[in-house]
Amino acid sequence: MQLESMYQDVILDHYKNPHGRGLREPFEAEVHHVNPTCGDEVTLRVHLEGDTIADVSYEGMGCSISQASVSAMYDLVIGRTVPQALETGEHFRTLMQAKGDLSVAAKLEDELEDAVAFAGVSKYPARIKCALMSWMALKDASARAMSVAHPTTPTEAKS
Ligand code: ZN
Repeated sequence: MQLESMYQDVILDHYKNPHGRGLREPFEAEVHHVNPTCGDEVTLRVHLEGDTIADVSYEGMGCSISQASVSAMYDLVIGRTVPQALETGEHFRTLMQAKGDLSVAAKLEDELEDAVAFAGVSKYPARIKCALMSWMALKDASARAMSVAHPTTPTEAKS
């Protein structure tokens, strides 16, 4: 099918020319996530300015789906607030539950941009974890970064 081969091209392009790859400073949190069933790995750093994701930097290795997923995610989350990025992650999770139903992808095109190209992956349960690894790493890292940026202080009294 034409649409599916177009989607494959988008994934391959992100895999060959990853956006935002490399570990950068500054960052508030760094996480390392693995997908043992496939052997995928990612080290991901989040840098916040207020609640906004100013940078996501990463290094990884593994299959083309796992590595392309981080690159497509990078484009989607830079400049967004953490809650907005996590909401996008939920849309991506919905896409991964579509079992190959491309009408779900069509509805999520605006929210997911290039990441909608992973729609075909949802047909293959073994590969879904490859695509979701980057989003789980982002969720983990941004939660840690938020707790650094907004530490819960036992007392506000400083006077
Ligand atoms: Zn994989």
